[in-house]
Amino acid sequence: MSLIHSTATDLLKGLETGESTSVEITQAYLDQIEKHDGAVRSFLRVDTEAALASAEQIDRRRVAGEPLGRLGGLPVAVKDVICTMGQPTTCASKMLEDFVPPYDATVVSRLKQADAVLLGKTNMDEFAMGSTTENSCLGPTRNPWDLARVPGGSSGGAAACLAASMAPLSIGSDTGGSIRQPASFCGVAGMKPTYGRVSRYGLVAFASSLDQIGPLAHTAEDTALLLEVLAGHDPRDSTSANVPVPKYTETVREPLQDLTLGLVREHFGEGLDGEVEVAIREAVKVYESLGATVKEISLPHSKYAIATYYIIAPSEASSNLARYDGAHYGYRTDEEEMMAELAAERKALAANGDEQRLENLDVPLVRMYRKTRAEGFGPEVKRRIMLGTYALSAGYYDAYYLKALKVRRLIRNDYDEAFKEVDLIAGPVAPTAAFRIGEKTDDPLAMYLGDLYTASANLAGIGGISIPCGFTSGGLPIGLQLQGPALEEERLLRAAHMFQQATDWHARRPELANP
Ligand code: GLN
Repeated sequence: MSLIHSTATDLLKGLETGESTSVEITQAYLDQIEKHDGAVRSFLRVDTEAALASAEQIDRRRVAGEPLGRLGGLPVAVKDVICTMGQPTTCASKMLEDFVPPYDATVVSRLKQADAVLLGKTNMDEFAMGSTTENSCLGPTRNPWDLARVPGGSSGGAAACLAASMAPLSIGSDTGGSIRQPASFCGVAGMKPTYGRVSRYGLVAFASSLDQIGPLAHTAEDTALLLEVLAGHDPRDSTSANVPVPKYTETVREPLQDLTLGLVREHFGEGLDGEVEVAIREAVKVYESLGATVKEISLPHSKYAIATYYIIAPSEASSNLARYDGAHYGYRTDEEEMMAELAAERKALAANGDEQRLENLDVPLVRMYRKTRAEGFGPEVKRRIMLGTYALSAGYYDAYYLKALKVRRLIRNDYDEAFKEVDLIAGPVAPTAAFRIGEKTDDPLAMYLGDLYTASANLAGIGGISIPCGFTSGGLPIGLQLQGPALEEERLLRAAHMFQQATDWHARRPELANP
């Protein structure tokens, strides 16, 4: 099989046996990017020279017999919300177009320590707010299965580059579904680990109590490999869990005996596309044929997940994004232009004798903040800041924010109850397969409803994985979501691997048109 169509696990074997070199592998992916990313646009930046230089160095060390890290020369793509020292980290926002972090995120340091080759930074919705990658200030990424459709989001670039065989592994972030949903739309695997399993140090914050970094790959084995590198306690992130990390790669091939899968009654109601439902039910049958028992369960508060998420996430975002004020870092409005504008306004008001408005005219600092934020943020980010500021304002705090926190607790309690009865929960990732670019851009509420099956895991802090489980009649991938109790990533990976032993959905790749 050609290098770019191999799994990371197979590539690693080839590297270890000397069958291929990191330079060959890296070059093969770079060639594929060169050939097809003009159409797909999964990368915001490709670090061709740096990638080849580090691949060369790793090859040299291997030849010299030096011990290598866990990823020993495998290329990895990184979502552009994760800080990379000395290389731009834009969050696909005009606000951070010139931001070059002076440090690496912990996950990036871990990738480097593991001797990964960093290919570049992938496209996303601005500040990870969105479900399609259409909110990128640098233009949308396209779904490699159908270029007229969205790849999902916000980690759309990270999922699309895998589907298009432009990288074997990538990392994304998931606040309400942003790893699992694009994985589902692009026909790859994507895991949101338990809150605290992977360090968030160096992840640009969207909603700090929900954000989590996680791996995207083609198979459960590859996901295990990448998670093993990423996971672990980090003194620089006080929310990271100080618990041992299992050797995922050693256990992933062990099938789960006596597995009990829960099917959530509320997941199969209104809004779920028929073809998606059929694929999910077929996937559950596969598990039954492998010896699993299926039990219907209820998550009674899951119907409030979207409402709760869209109070808590924007509230935290409005606070986190207050730092982009033009004074600390990031974009700042053109001050010369601003001062000229202010002078002209003052002059006009004085000429009209409008004392009141003259008195209320901004002082330059306030005008600088206002213009910077008006020009630096895109429309969805502004919408979130307004929603969050409103929900946190003195008169509404109890009615919205505090209420949402209470419902969040109830959602978590539902899961605790459910996991007394079942080992894992199986269900859809998203209500539909990938839709057309532009189809939902004018309807934010319809867009938000797409997070129906994913946001609860973030609210509860538990882990979830999306794996390919079928295709629509139109040839679009469908994802199956497995959710597990906190810190049970090992169980998720083993269950995903069992499924992939019995099916071959994960092995399919789209035909990319020749440019
Ligand atoms: N689609 C959700 C949102 O727009 C989730 C985004 C995410 O997980 N970063 O907020």
